[in-house]
Amino acid sequence: MSKPYADREVWFLTGSQDLYGEDTLRQVAEQSQAIARELGAADAVPVRIVWKPVLKESDSIRRMALEANASDACIGVIAWMHTFSPAKMWIAGLDALRTPLLHLHTQANVELPWSTIDFDFMNLNQAAHGDREFGYIQSRLGVARKTVVGHVSNPVVQSRVGAWVRAAAGWAATHELRLARFGDNMRNVAVTEGDKTEAELRFGVSVNTWGVNDLAAAVDAVEDSAVDTLVAEYEDLYDVAPELRAGAERHDSMRYGARQELGLLALLGEIGATAFTTTFEDLGALRQLPGLAVQRLMAQGYGFGAEGDWKTALLVRAAKVMGEGLPGGASLMEDYTYNLVPGDEKILGAHMLEVCPSLTTSRPSLEVHPLGIGGREDPVRLVFDTDAGPGVVVALSDMRDRFRLTANAVDIVPPDEDLPHLPVARAVWKPRPDFATSAEAWLMAGAAHHTVLSTQVGTEVFSDFSDIARTELLLIDEGTTSRQFAQEIRWNQAYYRLAQGL
Ligand code: MN
Repeated sequence: MSKPYADREVWFLTGSQDLYGEDTLRQVAEQSQAIARELGAADAVPVRIVWKPVLKESDSIRRMALEANASDACIGVIAWMHTFSPAKMWIAGLDALRTPLLHLHTQANVELPWSTIDFDFMNLNQAAHGDREFGYIQSRLGVARKTVVGHVSNPVVQSRVGAWVRAAAGWAATHELRLARFGDNMRNVAVTEGDKTEAELRFGVSVNTWGVNDLAAAVDAVEDSAVDTLVAEYEDLYDVAPELRAGAERHDSMRYGARQELGLLALLGEIGATAFTTTFEDLGALRQLPGLAVQRLMAQGYGFGAEGDWKTALLVRAAKVMGEGLPGGASLMEDYTYNLVPGDEKILGAHMLEVCPSLTTSRPSLEVHPLGIGGREDPVRLVFDTDAGPGVVVALSDMRDRFRLTANAVDIVPPDEDLPHLPVARAVWKPRPDFATSAEAWLMAGAAHHTVLSTQVGTEVFSDFSDIARTELLLIDEGTTSRQFAQEIRWNQAYYRLAQGL
């Protein structure tokens, strides 16, 4: 799978006007190049920042917007008004721009040079009001953007720009996303349904179904020698249960797991899909519900949703791209069961099989156990505990007239005791601000039981993603109260209907 940031760029646009004369405009160009360089060099910013010549009039601004739209490499543009750039010049360009926009409100100097400042300096360094003019026209036109304030050397500024770059990369990824469904949704489940046509308009994702026996055929077509190689890799990476090892009575179950991984990879490669779903109710000629294979593909960056849940598969894929290169991981997750001891409430999250091993730095064990549903052979799966630390769970619901994202900031904690009889990978977390407020808010939001759990990125990246997508995000975090959250839902209900127009 290709690296999501390797051939991507964010363009740095500087606004000015002809009025200032050559000397000032030369300094504007030099200083804006220095700022673009510093931003590009920051560890928090995962993409190349490409400086563009200073923009001074309407036509070149419009052309720049059209070029950004047309470029596959350009995932976002950052705009800064170094001097005063009369904003009517930006109307045509901003109206044409379809690429995510960040308004960076900064200036070249950190300290105000009190003892030497003269009016030449004032003339050159007037972003303080130049950017206010730009803010006005963006608001007047209703342009979606992120606004970041401060000097580029400030780590907070770098981190906020970096979060937006990651969200923009997620946005680019959902627009390139082909999502393959093997079978339909689990029968009668409501929240995993959704409007696939609207999703293609809103997120760019193309969601289509393939027969599960196409997958079974791809699995059967895998060469034995390829299975041998992959099984050796498993022995190397995991604590393989004795019954699964070479020569042991259930070794063939693990070989079939490897065969499923290679078959899935081959078929998804052929389709060009980077996310997929399965369902235990429609396994065709597959001998096991894919568990290990799905876990391994998620670890390589594929999106996945269980029981036909393509909306969560979309989120997992977006989270993989947005978190690329950061410590931690991202996975399908499901709120399963609770510890309700007062003052020590915790959520145990897991799934039947399919939790991504990117969530752990420990060595998973590879095991085989019976599965109560699906009626097939016992599936192989990786078992592990998720690393402790901060994370975010995010769900996507179809609310009839629109999509709604709901995110909860959580703290993953070690389980209170070992879980020797739990045959699946899991995560234990405390939701913010507290269990009752979080669960109340989640239920009031109508948020799904399937989520993506990311330990790579926080709520800011998902919030930026939702702004770029112009999609509602209900955020549950340390500042949430039930009453305020209930009101936010009501207000949003009105806002998102009005924002759609007639
Ligand atoms: Mn499920």
